Amino acid sequence: MNLVHQISILTCFIFAILLFAGLVYTCIVFYTENEKRASFRALLLAVFIPPIYLVTWHYNWEIVAFILTADLIITSILFLIPFGRKANITDDFPKNQIDERNIMFARNELKEGTERFDEYYSKNPDKLILDNEFRKEPGLTAEKSIFYNELAYKAANASFFTVEQFHQSVDGEINQSRSNISNHELSDFIKDWSKKLGALNVGIAELKDYHFYSHKGRGKEYGNPIESKHTHSIAFTVEMSEEMVAAAPQSSIVMESAQQYLEAGRIAIQLAQFLRSLGFSARAHIDGNYQVICPLVARDAGLGEIGRMGLLMTPNEGPRVRLGVVTTEFKLKPDNRIKDNAMLDFCLQCKKCAEVCPSKSISFEAPKLVNGIKRWQINSESCFTYWCKAGTDCGRCMACCPYSHPDNLLHNFIRFGIKKSALFRMLAVHLDDFFYGRKPKSAKLPDWIPENDKVPK
Ligand code: SF4
Ligand code: SF4
Repeated sequence: MNLVHQISILTCFIFAILLFAGLVYTCIVFYTENEKRASFRALLLAVFIPPIYLVTWHYNWEIVAFILTADLIITSILFLIPFGRKANITDDFPKNQIDERNIMFARNELKEGTERFDEYYSKNPDKLILDNEFRKEPGLTAEKSIFYNELAYKAANASFFTVEQFHQSVDGEINQSRSNISNHELSDFIKDWSKKLGALNVGIAELKDYHFYSHKGRGKEYGNPIESKHTHSIAFTVEMSEEMVAAAPQSSIVMESAQQYLEAGRIAIQLAQFLRSLGFSARAHIDGNYQVICPLVARDAGLGEIGRMGLLMTPNEGPRVRLGVVTTEFKLKPDNRIKDNAMLDFCLQCKKCAEVCPSKSISFEAPKLVNGIKRWQINSESCFTYWCKAGTDCGRCMACCPYSHPDNLLHNFIRFGIKKSALFRMLAVHLDDFFYGRKPKSAKLPDWIPENDKVPK
């Protein structure tokens, strides 16, 4: 037997052992993540694939061993070597500022019979027909909505109520005695401290006009133009629990969203207060009280890219995060945007969020030019109408996104492959479908949340 055959035969043996160990590990990880289908499929692969290599080794089938080994080497090369097409990200940015009065949350706050309502719809008659659709539905966390769950909805509302208490503290008095700390020192301290406070990732961006809404659309300052002297921002993410998101669009998703808005709000308030105590003007941007468009600020602070579902996609938790932002006059040390072409290329192929969206609000098509940026734009009216029907903020797209899988060795290995190779990205889309299903079922609510046993008649 020549050397090549000896190596092929030996490789088959080693690979059989490694493959078996890898698939059993995969099976266990899926099982601990409560992904029964994926776990069963990994077990089937562990039972059927490694024996092919083992039998080849045992019976010394030289040609088969050679083919299997060559296949293994080629696959590894394709996985490890940067290879193939990537989506092209340019430095484009929105041409016009967005008016907060046009976003769905602002339109939802308009009450029929009020001056504000009449004024808005006389200027935007096309939106009245669209908005009448969501007004026919029960509404967010409302009785008679599809996923009404008394305890979960009241818990979510308690969290939203608590965030609202923070609104009065987004801004405040500035210490007249100004610290002379350097921007490097303060930037590093803020990043480390934010993580200590519970942030997952933190970045700093220099602010541009397009980061700010043109006008306030919510609260007492409705209709006021936004004028800010702040030049820099701290953007951070907080993680949403995988277990709570997996049951989307059932009630756990709105509980978790509310809770993480509260966490993000708390951290932002602390950071803004801290900066003011050092003598620098600073403002927290929290749920229901924003001056900036958080996903755009977070993108430019290097925290991720904006994917097909229109949310910020972070490298390790995908869209399964909430965002917080603090703006300040202090010239912090800015980070660079990531420009993750591989992530956007994966989005081009994956389309899973579009498949599972119950209101068909996510496009299957390639990104289009919107306000100066090539991007995907969801149909926010039909999405919000579904929220008002469901009673939750849905989150099916977030729950099913392959990037939302937990941040652990198994999923990070897949993310590594996605980043490296276009061929691996194609394979990863099919792998995700194979293990989880093209349209995965919603997980059950966590055991401690009672099922919908109090649906109002
Ligand atoms: S589900 Fe797929 S297409 Fe949708 S955002 Fe996630 S990666 Fe992109
Ligand atoms: S939140 Fe739900 S309705 Fe809205 S885009 Fe995502 S999946 Fe569709």
